[in-house]
Amino acid sequence: MFGINGNFLKLANNYLFATVNNKANEYAKANPDKKIIRLGIGDVTLPLPSAVVDAMVKASLEMGKAETFRGYPPYQGYDFLLEAIVENDYKARGIDISVDEVFVSDGAKSDCSNILDLFSPDNRIAVQDPVYPVYVDTNVIDGRAGRARPDGSYNKVIYMPCDESNGFMPEIPDRQPDIIYLNFPNNPTGATADYNTLKKWVDYALKVGAIILYDGAYEAFITEEDKPRSIYEIPDAKYCAIEIRSFSKTAGFTGVRCGYSVVPKELKSSGASLNELWYRRQSTKFNGVSYVVQRAAEAVYSPEGKRQIRENINYYLENAKIIKQGLEEIGLKAYGGVNSPYIWVKTPDKFGSWEFFDYLLRKIQIVGTPGEGFGPSGKGFLRLTAFNSRENILEAVERFKSLKK
Ligand SMILES: *Cc1c(COP(=O)(O)O)cnc(C)c1O
Repeated sequence: MFGINGNFLKLANNYLFATVNNKANEYAKANPDKKIIRLGIGDVTLPLPSAVVDAMVKASLEMGKAETFRGYPPYQGYDFLLEAIVENDYKARGIDISVDEVFVSDGAKSDCSNILDLFSPDNRIAVQDPVYPVYVDTNVIDGRAGRARPDGSYNKVIYMPCDESNGFMPEIPDRQPDIIYLNFPNNPTGATADYNTLKKWVDYALKVGAIILYDGAYEAFITEEDKPRSIYEIPDAKYCAIEIRSFSKTAGFTGVRCGYSVVPKELKSSGASLNELWYRRQSTKFNGVSYVVQRAAEAVYSPEGKRQIRENINYYLENAKIIKQGLEEIGLKAYGGVNSPYIWVKTPDKFGSWEFFDYLLRKIQIVGTPGEGFGPSGKGFLRLTAFNSRENILEAVERFKSLKK
């Protein structure tokens, strides 16, 4: 008789965003006359930049001709994309990364999860709390998280509370982790680490022999010039960090699917090179990203592409600013939104996060994401996203203001 991976049974919650969606859909069904504004799920809304679309059309036509047809792509990615990544995301910022340290993938979520294949099952993980739920859930499935407590946290995971008292920045934990997840700009709080903060983590990881999994999915949203864009801006980070990036939020690729991970050759454990292990892992379990998609990603780095994605990101950031100001005007405390498409709203005194979620849905038909879905310290907060049309954002702000009247 077959058995299942029993770790799945340890998962505490339904996938958060599915729950949010179900609640919103139920409300919509019961109230067909009401217009819901969805500021819950972190998915982009603007169409792909024309530079990207043109590249995809051209690549598709190439695939239809015998002379230019391509079969399986190289495991690590085509050189044209690897070189564009290295040149633009690293060399241009004075960071020395070589093409054989970059691995193109179908996105950051897969990479965050798949990278765990490289690590020992008894490694202890540390996460910012709150944070993107995928880090913890994938470790639950791998058996590294232990068992769920009543509040949905796991007994073997080291949670690093990030709240108003520490400016939403994690502090070095008392218990020593082996794998440290860092996500800046942070989903959901929008907090963005400065140079000294990142240096503190790199120094700590080097000292205790931990690895940092640095998720930079929102790197392109950084507007403050003094904030590092890559963990490799910190000296010696190549000895302790893997960086994961995505074209999803940067260039509207949530439906196209492309990202990459940097696994430096300096990373070693028990004499084994993580770069070599990751190559082995990818070539065994993954057959690469399609030619059309890699050409699309390459176009993100063309002069036209760069200009267009900058325009889109600025649009979302302006949305974020409008929401944040609107909330502050009615006396709510709101964080993030400066280097991030997310606004982290403190719920008014009498509300828990799910209560505030339900209240906003019923009263003004606005869907947010309850903070505790991102970890126990998210309790008392709600995440709103700037991924929507300007029209809907302005309407949402008006609706919030109506709560005060
Ligand atoms: C959206 C998001 C991702 C997922 O990116 P994909 O490339 O679409 O899989 C990864 N990390 C964080 C923090 C995210 O918010």
